[in-house]
Parts: sequence; C-alpha cells; structure tokens
Amino acid sequence: MNYIEKIRNILQDRFTETPKANVVTFGCAQNENDSEKIRGLLSHIGYSITDSIESSDMVVYNTCAIRENAELKIFGNIGKLKALKAANPNMIVAVCGCMVMQQHIVDKIKKSYPFVDIVFGVNNLEVLPQLMCDRYTQDKKQILSPIDKTDIVEDFPILRSGKSKASISIMFGCDNFCSYCIVPYVRGRERSRKPQDIMAEFRQLIADGYKDITLLGQNVNSYGKNLEEKIDFADLLQMLCTVPGEYVIHFMSSHPKDINKKVIDVIRDNPQISRQIHLPVQAGNDRVLKEMNRRYTIGQYMDIINYARQQIEDVSFSSDIIVGFPGETYEEYLDTEKLVKDVRFTQLFTYIYSPRTGTKAADMEDNISYKEKTVWLNRLIKIQQNIVFEHLNSYIGKTVTALVEEKYEDGSYTARLSNTFVVKFNSDSDFTDQFVKLKITGKKGTSLTAELLK
Ligand code: SF4
Repeated sequence: MNYIEKIRNILQDRFTETPKANVVTFGCAQNENDSEKIRGLLSHIGYSITDSIESSDMVVYNTCAIRENAELKIFGNIGKLKALKAANPNMIVAVCGCMVMQQHIVDKIKKSYPFVDIVFGVNNLEVLPQLMCDRYTQDKKQILSPIDKTDIVEDFPILRSGKSKASISIMFGCDNFCSYCIVPYVRGRERSRKPQDIMAEFRQLIADGYKDITLLGQNVNSYGKNLEEKIDFADLLQMLCTVPGEYVIHFMSSHPKDINKKVIDVIRDNPQISRQIHLPVQAGNDRVLKEMNRRYTIGQYMDIINYARQQIEDVSFSSDIIVGFPGETYEEYLDTEKLVKDVRFTQLFTYIYSPRTGTKAADMEDNISYKEKTVWLNRLIKIQQNIVFEHLNSYIGKTVTALVEEKYEDGSYTARLSNTFVVKFNSDSDFTDQFVKLKITGKKGTSLTAELLK
C-alpha cells in the first residue's frame, strides 16, 4: 500500500492527464487471470486501462513459455515497443509471466532489449508497485531474476474482462513433470489457495452477477494436498455449490491420474457443475503415455470415463491430444484414433508435438518427420469433426439452457451450452449475459440454431 501511495504521487507529478496502461496477455487462462490482477492493480494505482499500446504510458507483456515459437513471437512484439518508448520517455515497459521465469530469457532481455524497464516473474505480481516506484525514483531498471516463491498473496484488486464469465485460480504450480512440459519449471511447485479465500471470491462473483465461473489450476484434482486443512477438490466443489444462485461451474485442467469417483459423484449431485469434463488424455497408447510421464493407462482413463457415464446422464468430455510425440509409431498413433472414436469427445484440442528446451522429451529421439505428423493430425481433426457433427445433430429437437453471450445488429444472438457448443437464435428482448431456455431447431456449420422458449 505504501508503494501504491508513492507511485500515485509520482504519476501526479509526471502526467497532466490520467495515464493509460495496456496489459497484453500471451498463453493460457491462468495467464489471463494474472493479467486481470495486473489490470486491477494498475487501475487501483490510477491508470486508465486501454487496448491501445500506442497511447499507453505503461505497457505490460504477460508472457507464455509453453512453446518456443511463442517466445520468438513475444520477442518480436517487445522489439516493436522501442520506437514507442523513444516517443514517450515516461512510458514504462514491463515484461512478466512464465517466459521470464527462465534466467536465459532474463539475460537476453537485459542484453538485447535495453528499453525494457521492469521484469518480474509469475509468482510475485504484488511487487509491481514497488518496482514501478523504484524505476521512477532511482532511474534504474528493475530486472528481477526468477524467484522460486511459494507463498500466495490474496486480496488483489481484479479488473475482470468479462461481464458474465470469470475465472478463479484455486491453485498454482504443478508437481507432475510430464516429460514434454515446461510448466513445473516456470510456475514452481503445487500450492493451493485456502478454501475460505476461494469461497469469498466465488461468493463475490455470484453477488456481482457472474454466471459462468471457471476454476483454474494446472491440475485441479490435486487441490488441497499442501493445505493443513483436510480438503480435496471434490470437497471444494461441493462447498462452492452451496452458494445460492443461477450459475455454471467449469474447472480446468484435470489430470486423469488424480480425478476420482468422489469428484464425479459431486458433479452428479450438483447440476450447477458443467456436464462437460475436460480430461486431457494426450495420447491413446500406454507406452507413449509412459514416455510422457503421465502416470495413467488408457484402461484407467476409460474406467473414469465409464464411471462418469454411468453416474451422469448427459456427461460429455473434452480433451487435449499431442500427435507425434518422440518415438511414437504409426501403430501407436492409431491407438489415439481408436480412443477418440471410443470416447467421442465433444471438443478436442490437438497439437503436433513441439520440443521445449529444458524438458526431458526435448532430448528424446524423434524419427517421424513433421510432414508425417501433419498427416496424422489432419486425420485426427477430420475424425473429430465428424464426431462433433454427430453430437450437434443429436441436439436437434432438444430443449437446452444456454448462457447468452453476444447480440448482433440483425437482432440475432449467440449463446453457449455448458459444453461450449454455440447456439444462434433470434429474440426481440435483450438477454445478453443471462441464461435462456432454447429449443434446438437445426445446425448451421459448427453451430446449432434454436427458438427462444424463455
Ligand atoms: S500436469 Fe503435466 S502437462 Fe499439465 S502443467 Fe503439469 S507438467 Fe504440464
């Protein structure tokens, strides 16, 4: 708070008009949630938040380290700020996020991007006011080296970007060390927020009218493991569902080795929880899963899918799949095709394996050409498209509840089912950000069409 006061005074001396800040997010939902906290902090300090980098007095790049080519893109974007900074010497350029949790990246910024004023890591967003203050008062760049910090700071002011959708980080970091993934190295070890802090944030969101809440964590199913209080993810879900109101809860990501029957039972008993479960399988072959260090077999994965199907009438599943992991053979890839046909996911995020320096898989032998992997990926996408079309067809004639997202000039609206399918309908009244009852009448491309019932 002291630094926030100080920086407010500095801004008053330096700017005749309200200074503007722009926060650009690269990467995942967790990064977007961090950006909402940074925007909240900057807005609390006195900045007006803008989408325009050109007119900003403070630019924050919240970066992602998942893919190496994403890093190149981010460096390209940082480079473009040099001219803007030259034109506005009061401008502060800050880089944060997963990418700068790697010392070689911090060194590169120091050496090749001397106009960057502030660098801070993913686990210490709260130091930003102090760094800004020191930057202005000491006229010295504030470049922090990656810090392995584990405590959780609560009570961040958050400036949410949505009106009906919001996310809550329930935990940070990851202990799993999947062999292809950089996350445990950059986001640190797993730690959970206290249930009462999550509950308070959730209650506030519902009171503020939010209707679609996503609980975030790298592996939400191991929630609570480091807390003194005996609580697991199923208990947390059950607790949140006691809050009265009309809302839907999603969660991501789940790890198939940690999700259990207790979580499925809580979903079954609480209709506020989305009936689509995101369960990243990554590959359909046990040897490949072992090489990925995923620590489950396809048999175990199917056991939980089948249990959920027995317990929850309208359950569906979405997933992530990596095609062409080092050493994966064509026959092993075919196991993934088989799994996709068996589970019939409603949504599938498919990727060609891309090596990430610093991970175990980056040193594994890889004999399959990128061209061949592209053929596999395209085959999988085609199979999945047909499955989605069949799912869409199965909705025709059904009555559904959907959250209205957008209104168009011609009087049409789009709404989203809790499994993320998009429904288009017409209405004379504006129901944006509200739940509506719709009767599905048909399908257009990858969306459904409907009549408004209520
Ligand atoms: S569970 Fe695996 S893939 Fe997910 S963040 Fe952790 S290490 Fe990465």
